Amino acid sequence: MRGFEFLDQELQEMKKAGTFRKLIPIESEQGSKVQINGQTLIQLSSNNYLGLTSHPKMKDAAIEAVQKYGAGTGSVRTIAGTFSMHEALEKKLAKFKHTEAALVFQSGFTTNQGVLSSILTHEDVVISDELNHASIIDGIRLTKAARKVYKHVDTEDLERALKESGDYRKRIIVTDGVFSMDGNIAPLPKIVELAEQYDALVMVDDAHASGVLGENGRGTVNHFSLDGRVHIQVGTLSKAVGVLGGYIASSQTLIDYLIHKGRPFLFSTSHPPAVTAACSAAIDVLLEEPELIETLWENTAFFKQGLSKLGYDIGHSETPITPVIIGDEALTHQFSEKLAEAGVFAQGIAFPTVAKGKARIRTIVTAQHTKEELTASLSAFEKVGKELKILV
Ligand code: PMP
Repeated sequence: MRGFEFLDQELQEMKKAGTFRKLIPIESEQGSKVQINGQTLIQLSSNNYLGLTSHPKMKDAAIEAVQKYGAGTGSVRTIAGTFSMHEALEKKLAKFKHTEAALVFQSGFTTNQGVLSSILTHEDVVISDELNHASIIDGIRLTKAARKVYKHVDTEDLERALKESGDYRKRIIVTDGVFSMDGNIAPLPKIVELAEQYDALVMVDDAHASGVLGENGRGTVNHFSLDGRVHIQVGTLSKAVGVLGGYIASSQTLIDYLIHKGRPFLFSTSHPPAVTAACSAAIDVLLEEPELIETLWENTAFFKQGLSKLGYDIGHSETPITPVIIGDEALTHQFSEKLAEAGVFAQGIAFPTVAKGKARIRTIVTAQHTKEELTASLSAFEKVGKELKILV
């Protein structure tokens, strides 16, 4: 169909630069191994930290929910789409997070976007880490609040921003708990200390900390023993929890406000029964099977050590997200293709997701990986690294 020629030049340029990407369909369930193009590959690119996407308790809960409540809900939450199971999940999440209340959104993305865009006005200021997730950036773009960006995890720069933000109704500091492309953890104790000193709210996006850090995977706030001192905790249900969705864990007042003003919550249909039931079962799994988190961290240490020993630059990750920094974008994509030929699925990540010149293979090991799979992956990284002369 004609009409989209205005987009074509940019796509042609991407093709010339070797940065045009095709989507890669998976033909099996998500797991430590996946089938792609009929080939079985070790999966190092998912956010399925604990292997819950295929946990039997969650599958059973989803099937039972479909049998009992059907495939969909038929409405947004505020009209006819709130089922008792939605409210039960929110109660369970609030208890898990040690907060007064919780509210589920359709995705982590809409959670960040929804909360920031609805609670702030032109009288407020939002102070954001420069490497925060795109959904935080977009949420900020949707508000009329003043914006200040501080240098990545630089609490001196954050303090400067706070000092410059004296005249606003509300100041809110927002940060990823774990940064998704580098795997480092936000300096939350210092951020909270500054917030208390300058009377600011703190919002933490724990997408990559939910199910990973803290007691039973409660997240960074619990990891740093800051329960009750962080105003807004965002969690995802799509990564370690293994299903789909995001949620706010916070005060009853904020939740009541979001039910009336949170636009993605108000104007988009609620989660189907299978999703809600599987998420609820996942929280039980987190509480009942803490050994999954232990295995995740053991695997993480083993794999990071292996990559370092090979001589790769793996940045300063403190979590299972381990970047293998290559730099050049086209070389990174070539690296990823060659890894697939060697039996490993590990995707290249480039600009705009990371800064120009910082392209990388982002790896995430899971609790499901066996030592044999991780050893085989390290051999593939060694072989391809030497072939492409990244390793000497
Ligand atoms: N925040 C962060 C830090 C993320 O990495 C992501 C996922 N890319 C999200 C939010 C969005 O979560 P979801 O995939 O549930 O929309």
